[in-house]
Amino acid sequence: MPGVLFSHPSSLEHDTGAHPERADRIRAIEAALAARDSLGWAREASPAASREALERVHPAGYVDSISRLVASGGGAVDADTYASAGTWDAVLHGAGGAVAAVEAVVGGSSPVAASIHRPPGHHAEAARAMGFCFFNNVAVAAQHAITALGLSRVAIFDWDVHHGNGTNDIFHASPDVLFVSAHESPLYPGSGPASDVGSGPGAGFTVNLPVPGGSGDDVWCSLTEHVVGPLVRSFEPELVLVSAGFDAHVDDPLATCRVTDAGFAAMAASVRRAAAACGAPVALVLEGGYDVDALARSLCDVLSVLGADGVPAVDDGLTRHPQASAAQDRLSSFWPSL
Ligand SMILES: [Zn+2]
Repeated sequence: MPGVLFSHPSSLEHDTGAHPERADRIRAIEAALAARDSLGWAREASPAASREALERVHPAGYVDSISRLVASGGGAVDADTYASAGTWDAVLHGAGGAVAAVEAVVGGSSPVAASIHRPPGHHAEAARAMGFCFFNNVAVAAQHAITALGLSRVAIFDWDVHHGNGTNDIFHASPDVLFVSAHESPLYPGSGPASDVGSGPGAGFTVNLPVPGGSGDDVWCSLTEHVVGPLVRSFEPELVLVSAGFDAHVDDPLATCRVTDAGFAAMAASVRRAAAACGAPVALVLEGGYDVDALARSLCDVLSVLGADGVPAVDDGLTRHPQASAAQDRLSSFWPSL
């Protein structure tokens, strides 16, 4: 079995109306998986997250406020973020799928896992829903790995085209979680400058890699191979989480980056090599991606790389991009081995 994929039909019941973050995203992924026999991956229904798991990241009052909003019939949280009658089940299982994926790989029942849900999570702050997101699934999963499973170091690489402001802020002062985000800048939500490196004991453990609009495989793949890979190897995590959005794709309508299907596969290969060098398992948590065909194809290609036999070989043809060299120079005070 290459890996285990967690999903749940409640993802289809979060109704956003005419909105880019829509149920067709999941339908396209399911169709692509069905056409490829789920790439041989085992399929599991995501459990609902426990209150305990949610409240390690989100205050109880905030969790209650989302529950009440949905119970009252839903409504707008901000200009982009809507709750419907089906949202509570969707977000509970979304966080639960991420937690289950972590339990599967840390517990050793699967070498790699993925949690495929909507809505996404990485914009959700501890006490604020925003940017289509309600609960920060990857943050809940990372904190579960630390608090409930006893891990000491968890790395999160967020390759969604938007900055993962929620995850960034939740672990800002923590040296236990290395949070690395590559994102288009300027773009929503406007956070994530290179100068934001974390705070207090977490200084250096937040790494922001903003890239200009129009950046393609040359930039994104080099940053992943030449910056994220060495960072992960230096941090030596016991678990690598990928906050996997597919909206840096050239076909995506919400951003201007130009990553191809092959580019996402190459980034996955770099992540897998770095994780393997540390003996760390990988779990993927779906974030954005709004061209549904590009999303479905690229996700399948990434799962194929993560679940393949053997660690993928280094791509000798990948040139070190000047942006990667600049990031290495910038980060060398915290990470001398870079
Ligand atoms: Zn995004």
